[in-house]
Amino acid sequence: MSYSAIKNRRTSIPVKVGHVTVGGGAPVVVQSMTNTDTADAEATAKQTAALARAGSELVRITVDREESAKAVPHIREKLDRMGVNVPLVGDFHYNGHTLLNDHPACAEALAKYRINPGNVGFREKKDRNFAMMVETAIRFDRPVRIGVNWGSLDNALLTELMDQNAKSAEPMDVREVMHEAVVQSGLMSAERAVELGLAKDKILISAKCSEVQDLIAVYRSLAARCDYALHLGLTEAGMGSKGIVASTAALAVLLQEGIGDTIRISLTPEPGGDRTREVIVAQEILQTMGIRSFAPMVIACPGCGRTTSTTFQELAQDIQSYIRTRMPDWQRDYPGFETLSLAVMGCIVNGPGESKHADIGISLPGTGELPAAPIFIDGKKAMTIRGENLSQQFKDIVEDYVKG
Ligand code: SF4
Repeated sequence: MSYSAIKNRRTSIPVKVGHVTVGGGAPVVVQSMTNTDTADAEATAKQTAALARAGSELVRITVDREESAKAVPHIREKLDRMGVNVPLVGDFHYNGHTLLNDHPACAEALAKYRINPGNVGFREKKDRNFAMMVETAIRFDRPVRIGVNWGSLDNALLTELMDQNAKSAEPMDVREVMHEAVVQSGLMSAERAVELGLAKDKILISAKCSEVQDLIAVYRSLAARCDYALHLGLTEAGMGSKGIVASTAALAVLLQEGIGDTIRISLTPEPGGDRTREVIVAQEILQTMGIRSFAPMVIACPGCGRTTSTTFQELAQDIQSYIRTRMPDWQRDYPGFETLSLAVMGCIVNGPGESKHADIGISLPGTGELPAAPIFIDGKKAMTIRGENLSQQFKDIVEDYVKG
């Protein structure tokens, strides 16, 4: 399936971020963010490369101090030497105006600047700092993301809206006032950037919240009131399954309504956990919704009392990781196999039927029977494989299928 599966995609202004187009009907872009100290150019380049190789099409890095700003051009050089051309996005808070102004090589190496209107300063200072960042973007011909965050909302704006609401004849719920403040912060900042001379096709907006229903309400409002490209993400989504479920719940609703041009899944990593997980989750959300295809999907049954041996679980896991490992080579040598579907099924109850629906399927016999498994290719039984090394035999069949 392609994005056309979602009929009502919102029209947005396309923005070029390096070589990547966001919005304007382009495929929804997957992005992520490093958690290394940007001043450590080696570690940041290494993690950026890992994220890019996992499928992140844009990678954001924190630029929080002089040492980080100085490291940014070195990170770009290291990535270029590795052959990783992923555009880098600079995440600025509080001091972005001075860092960008004082470090032109940093401004040049970044493909986009993220500005948080809630923490660029207060009153006149805020406008001056914001203007300095926008002027740098104009000078370097770079887009900006107006990145509003519910946790660092512009307090002056929120107070003003709360006061107005208190005096209103029909006051809104406090939560609705907060939603309005988030939306207005994004829209007013974008309007100010345009007044300063930034073209509309250099502006993206995000308005992140940490609660699913707040995020949906805010983005629906934002989407209806502008045509800027929108970056979606549930901020502070959390750890493990909670973070994945909350992000999926929120983003799936919005994407289904045609809202969203780029997504980031913010997962709190387990200590020592793999940062690329957020990229895989983002891809899986898009792929399971039929919006984009990144790698062959493995359909596997949950297993039950018929699969008490570990053969089935090991096979399903092994095939899933094999596909992810092989995908970069397949994409290079045999493009078009992102949509391949593989079924790995535990027994004959649903195994043959599900395997016939997939491009290639294997149906194990269940517990206690001989390890012989029928293979289905393009809906027809093609052969039966036997023995201890079913996994390798199945991989060989998949490899032959891809190579034609
Ligand atoms: Fe259990 Fe077989 Fe269904 Fe898998 S296909 S869940 S093993 S009955």
